[in-house]
Amino acid sequence: MPRIQLLPSLVITKIAAGEVIERPASVVKELLENSVDAGATRIDVDIEQGGAELIRVVDNGCGILPEDLPLAFASHATSKLATAEDLFHIGTLGFRGEALASIGGIARVTLQARPHDQDSGAEITCEGGKLSSARDWNGAPGTRIEVRHLFYNTPVRRKFLRSPGTEMGHISEIFTRLALAKPNLHLTLRHNGKDVYEVPGSAGLLDRIGLFFGPEVRDKLYPVERCQGPAMLSGFIADPACERGNAKMQYLFLNGRWIRDRSLGHALQEAYRGLLMTGRFATAFLFLDLPPDQVDVNVHPTKAEVRFRDGHALYSFVFGCVRERLREEKLTARLFPTSTLASPQVQEPKSNGPNWFQARPEEASSPLFSDAGLPPVTFLPSPGVKNQGSGIRSQESEVGSQRSEVRDQVAGNQESHYQPWVYSPPQAGVKAIQLYDAYLVLETPEGMLVIDQHALHERILFEQLKRRIREGTLEIQRLLVPEPVELSAEQAARSLEQRDALAQLGWGVEDFGGGTVLLTSYPAILGKRSPVEAFKGVVDFLSAKDRLPTREQLFSDLLSLMACHAAVRAGDPLTQEEIAALVALREMADDTHHCPHGRPTSLLFSKHDLDRQFRRT
Ligand code: ADP
Ligand code: MG
Repeated sequence: MPRIQLLPSLVITKIAAGEVIERPASVVKELLENSVDAGATRIDVDIEQGGAELIRVVDNGCGILPEDLPLAFASHATSKLATAEDLFHIGTLGFRGEALASIGGIARVTLQARPHDQDSGAEITCEGGKLSSARDWNGAPGTRIEVRHLFYNTPVRRKFLRSPGTEMGHISEIFTRLALAKPNLHLTLRHNGKDVYEVPGSAGLLDRIGLFFGPEVRDKLYPVERCQGPAMLSGFIADPACERGNAKMQYLFLNGRWIRDRSLGHALQEAYRGLLMTGRFATAFLFLDLPPDQVDVNVHPTKAEVRFRDGHALYSFVFGCVRERLREEKLTARLFPTSTLASPQVQEPKSNGPNWFQARPEEASSPLFSDAGLPPVTFLPSPGVKNQGSGIRSQESEVGSQRSEVRDQVAGNQESHYQPWVYSPPQAGVKAIQLYDAYLVLETPEGMLVIDQHALHERILFEQLKRRIREGTLEIQRLLVPEPVELSAEQAARSLEQRDALAQLGWGVEDFGGGTVLLTSYPAILGKRSPVEAFKGVVDFLSAKDRLPTREQLFSDLLSLMACHAAVRAGDPLTQEEIAALVALREMADDTHHCPHGRPTSLLFSKHDLDRQFRRT
């Protein structure tokens, strides 16, 4: 029977160090935070061999009294916290009093410090947890700490170190976060004697972003600043054109501390919904300030994760700020004529949706769109709409008067066709032409605008659908004779499970047994498109998901799918009236710069660029 015994303190330290110190970058993080807490205005970081050989941090902060030096290396010894009550009002980056003890346990550390009001300072070394006695030291006021041979006495961890380049990458990231979090701080980073970054104290946040991420990012930012109760959000969000393949460019700081927060990251992504392709991530630098008692930072050893008192309120605060800020911008993608600039972000989405989400020319010949030759953009003149301010609303009310009329129709008899959307008349003087039966080109005061007809129409229908569902004015087409739709047993079950949600979108579904369901109604927006084929698309979508998304997501996805279905396609020739109607709607609807899947609907080739390219300036 093994006996229980207390662990020697050195073993305890090594175990604790495992939590806080994962790699050289963790040491850099802890030391930088200590310097900030000491009130330093300048911090110099020197690294050798990715930090495996040496990490040196020199600051001009308050220093440490000679008699306190040994305590700095003791576990749970800190100058930043006195009572348990203080834990709920933390204003410093550190407070656990564990970092130096941990680092001292797994490296050879020299700590030198001198308070500003002392004539001399002192130094002490700590090797694998063994402290030397303190000696006099005559350096500049502040603190200087050298960490050599990290993990020298924990060979397994030392073996896990990656190449110096990789470790240096992690260190640079830590350095970047701190530099962004603390403008006014003069910071330098050197690796193997070479300058990596020099950030002057005078560099503001925007300069710093430019320094770390280049002008491509710095010049595509929109400032945000908003308060709600005691919460304040500020910083920058980037144009959707700055999108990335992962969330690394989403910097979030809470009370001056970089944090990772899945919920707020999600709020940010949701705010960009419809502006980014599936699987792409927004860029943002957001600073959230909250009273310390609204947040618990003591939930994670490295304090990278925190717990909010009211996470829900913060979620909608962040979502709302970002969403509204994006709305204020004209987000029409600019076409840059020079080949050195990245082409606009037209990229195919990852295929985690049905493939007919994307309008491709081939769609016209797909069996799903057998009657695709009939464009559902219908034009009914309604004079004077443009003069009534928000044209779309006056147009809405006209359609609204028809809303309670549910038109009956015999299944299969598509001739008695009901025109679901009424468009406003063409704007006087809009010069637009259709090219390749897919693009509309028009002249605007800003320049030449090229519109993807499908993407734009899709966005317009999507917004209309959304509004009608919200207002309960969705038009539904009932089938006098319900149409049987044969599905797999699993698909039939899925669609019956979601019967209520489908009904809200206009789809009436009843069980017929044996994998067959009866379609009793469909959204009138489909016009002449085959409702059965569109319904099969919806069912495919429902059963493609292993786990059903939230109701909101489901709706949004289904709406964009229906809009995609009902919209004109690439390959559909349009009449002059239809072209003008589409262009007029673009002016009136929200968010028309991107389709619901985040593809741009229009590209602007600015007059200025045209002039420049033709050397007219
Ligand atoms: P914590 O930061 O959680 O207090 P640390 O182990 O990181 O714990 O540091 C222990 C103590 O050493 C700090 O509370 C502080 O008093 C002192 N100290 C560490 N680094 C510095 C520094 N660069 N300048 C001044 N004091 C420091
Ligand atoms: Mg600390």
